[in-house]
Amino acid sequence: MKEFVEFRIIMEYAHLLFRDDEGTNLGDSVKVVRIDKNDPRFNAIGELQKKARENNDLFFTCFDYRRSYTETEINNAKWFQIFQTRHFEPAGEECGTIYDESSACPICGSGAKQLSPLRLRRSSIPKADMAVTIAWGDETIVSERFVKMVKDNKLKGLDFEPVISSANSGQKLNYYQVRPQYYLDFSEKSVFGQDPFNLSGKFPGCTMECVQPDGTIVKEVFPPEIYKCPNGDNMGLCLLSEAYIKSDSVLKDLDFFASRQTVGGRVGLIRPSHLFFCSNRMMKLIKENNLKGFKFEVAHIVDE
Ligand SMILES: [Zn+2]
Repeated sequence: MKEFVEFRIIMEYAHLLFRDDEGTNLGDSVKVVRIDKNDPRFNAIGELQKKARENNDLFFTCFDYRRSYTETEINNAKWFQIFQTRHFEPAGEECGTIYDESSACPICGSGAKQLSPLRLRRSSIPKADMAVTIAWGDETIVSERFVKMVKDNKLKGLDFEPVISSANSGQKLNYYQVRPQYYLDFSEKSVFGQDPFNLSGKFPGCTMECVQPDGTIVKEVFPPEIYKCPNGDNMGLCLLSEAYIKSDSVLKDLDFFASRQTVGGRVGLIRPSHLFFCSNRMMKLIKENNLKGFKFEVAHIVDE
């Protein structure tokens, strides 16, 4: 497995570590660089982010782990994490989906029960076989083609619930919400955090000066958040490593399961999510059927 981390660096500070001709510039404000963790500048990015944060500023805004595998590694892997690559809005809540917030964890906001079918705006759903709303949570939907593939091949471990149109009361759309049948625990080998340099699991809150679209600068207050929940239901804001799942005897009969614990945060519309995993057979069927909206990474089943 080859692993790089892609960072979006604030252009004003990019010269502190990177040459002008390195990476890709997104306009005048952001430089995108892809860097190996063994590059000495990797840790320097963390140091500069820490210093910037002390001044209510940022060195990088976003990061993304990019992992690639050899054909042998893919053939030998029994399980894969599924990443939804298509996102859309409005979220279910904005379309009338009802949640019971009183059932959510009071610390991390994970686990609010969905009381109604998932309601979505038909015209906003991407042309893909899997997609998730910008709220994340359990708002992952799949196409009829995906459901047919699962049923034709008797893939085990997931059910589907109808998705309802926000416009016409009760009208079923030709998309389905994914409902996992089994939820399995993360192993302690899985690494969670806010970013590659911050595994604290909490955000103390801050005030930052944010540039508005019209160029004015406004002070915005970001309240404290707890991502690594002491109740054990939410693991952190992001999964930073490949996923490690505790072995379970049900796995031998499954093609699909979800993580028992959620990942993410409860901010505005956004909800913590259960991560999805599929067998090698299911991954290959998704590829053979040329289904869209998926990315896969190897997941590890371990005894501890
Ligand atoms: Zn919690």
